[in-house]
Amino acid sequence: MRSGDTQTGQIELAGEQLAYRLRISPRARRITLRLAARDGSLQVTAPPTVSRRQVQAFLKSQSGWIAQRRATLPDPVPFAADQELPILGDLYAIRHCPDARRGVWLEPGILNVSGHGDHLPRRIEDFLRSYARQQLTQEARHRSAQLPLDARPLGRITVRDTTSRWGSCSSSGNLSFSWRLVFAPREVFDYVVVHELAHLVHLDHSRAFWRLVKDMKGDFESARSWLRREGSSLLRYGAKT
Ligand SMILES: [Zn+2]
Repeated sequence: MRSGDTQTGQIELAGEQLAYRLRISPRARRITLRLAARDGSLQVTAPPTVSRRQVQAFLKSQSGWIAQRRATLPDPVPFAADQELPILGDLYAIRHCPDARRGVWLEPGILNVSGHGDHLPRRIEDFLRSYARQQLTQEARHRSAQLPLDARPLGRITVRDTTSRWGSCSSSGNLSFSWRLVFAPREVFDYVVVHELAHLVHLDHSRAFWRLVKDMKGDFESARSWLRREGSSLLRYGAKT
């Protein structure tokens, strides 16, 4: 198999057809497997010397582990009528209002979506992305007043659909965040903003960096450990069923 390739495959495990993504990496020493938090799909990495047959045999040998892990994954929550979404710590039920002409709007406990049902998932995602960006921008501007005077100026704020990093800070002072932080509790959301702002002073994770985070945020350990423990649960919202 050629290195750098990504292929897809299917395997039958315990009577169920499962799709997997296979990435061939020259740096891989052996076959490794993980489950994507977003949808429980199988992600396999293998060295180029391995054959497709060996990959299949490996997956079969891991079928017990795979079944166990799949059973503990949180269920995906599609963007569909009557589903509930946590938005910055409060639960909102999705209500479809086909005849309204207001786009998407929030009221206490309810996320209203107008228009045709076919467009509901995309409309909700567009709305939540821009809501996330607006809230992140507001929080970052507000919090930036706490930064020391020698901090680099706060640049642009963008949102992306990253799955491995919740936020990043460029050397030019632009901050980028995962829009899915909108599903996290306020405390956690706030911590990620403060963390990236602190990189406007320290580009590393030195002791001075963590001291600044603590000065700005107070006790941040619980938010940090929430992200480590529960962060992947933010990826299940809006997953296709
Ligand atoms: Zn960092």
